[in-house]
Amino acid sequence: MKAVVYNGPRDVVVKDMPDAKIDKPTDVLVRITTTNICGSDLHMYEGRTSFETGRIFGHENLGQVIEVGAGVQRIKVGDYVCLPFNIGCGFCENCERGLTGFCLTANPGSAGAAYGFAEMGPWEGGQAELLRVPFGDFNCLVLPKDAREKEDDYVMLSDIFPTGWHATELAGLRPGDSVAIYGAGPVGLMAAHSAVVKGASQVFVVDTHPSRLALAEKLGATAINGVGDAAVEQIMNLTDGRGTDCGCECVGYQCCDKHGHEDNSATMNSLVASTRATGGIGVVGVFVPQDPGAGTDLAKEGKMPFDFGSFWFKGQQIRTGQANVKAYNRQLARLIHQGKAAPSQIISHRLHLAEAPDAYKHFDDRDAGWTKVILKP
Ligand code: NAD
Ligand code: ZN
Repeated sequence: MKAVVYNGPRDVVVKDMPDAKIDKPTDVLVRITTTNICGSDLHMYEGRTSFETGRIFGHENLGQVIEVGAGVQRIKVGDYVCLPFNIGCGFCENCERGLTGFCLTANPGSAGAAYGFAEMGPWEGGQAELLRVPFGDFNCLVLPKDAREKEDDYVMLSDIFPTGWHATELAGLRPGDSVAIYGAGPVGLMAAHSAVVKGASQVFVVDTHPSRLALAEKLGATAINGVGDAAVEQIMNLTDGRGTDCGCECVGYQCCDKHGHEDNSATMNSLVASTRATGGIGVVGVFVPQDPGAGTDLAKEGKMPFDFGSFWFKGQQIRTGQANVKAYNRQLARLIHQGKAAPSQIISHRLHLAEAPDAYKHFDDRDAGWTKVILKP
């Protein structure tokens, strides 16, 4: 099968790999029809993780079931399924509680499992023609009859729509609240879409990319062009000096030679400043864990010089982490089915799998107009 394979920092190739196949009786084999490139892929693409060369990318996957293992009962050949990026077993203590992003079986002793990801288990990715889905009965969301017609909406259920929704949940957003979302990448835009759907009174989206900010406006948010103090000042003016009820961090670790963001804590300090006292802050942006070999590189160590004093003084709350995609999926699928949510609005490019190397480059460079890339194998 053709697959998008990591070949070293900022180097991916599309090449023939052994076909994915059923390995355990509980596996399901899916022919991928849509698979997305995600901002999270860039942590590996840029070479700052332990992702090994030769591994297949891709954790935002949708396709049709072509084979099921002998122990699979619920999923049938022919089903169109969207696959939450977190792989859960369904029976460990965390999965039982709905914390499928922290499954103790699929990646023992670590913080959850995912397809095509560093430090999240051995599972291969779905930027390929075929994907093996472990614990298939648990990890497939069977899509409604309009699966083909709304495929580009449903594929967003694999990660960024639930992740954006999760950001607003972690922040404690309630109808009528105001919210500031830092980052107008796909995740921030999905947080904005979620906030609008949930009935927020004011939704601000902070970034400096005009094309991404234009999409935020299209989703019904107010664009804040600027970062740091400049962004905070605009938000304070638009909330009569009060700040927003809550805030979302949808940027994460951005420090690299290429993008020149030197301060890994910029968004956290801005969030503390632009959120009202006792307000909630939801952090879904990924901060790469401490790498003991990183020497004095604060960013690579996963540490940040964050103003804890201001945060404490304002009595705010911070909640963090991977989205437990499965916990939101069924409800968000219904919103799409009923036409009340349309996450595909943020797609900028629909390309063939073979075009992945070029797409990674443009997306990584944050080239104008490149927001969300979906690949059709
Ligand atoms: P992205 O890199 O395309 O978007 C990030 C955006 O933030 C860019 O548009 C950039 O211009 C902007 N930005 C940079 N510095 C900023 C600043 N100081 N203030 C405001 N905006 C700033 O990525 P994405 O796909 O939207 O993903 C965003 C983050 O979410 C990544 O860290 C990704 O790994 C993470 N993520 C987390 C989960 C989860 O489950 N928690 C799931 C998916 C993605
Ligand atoms: Zn993703």
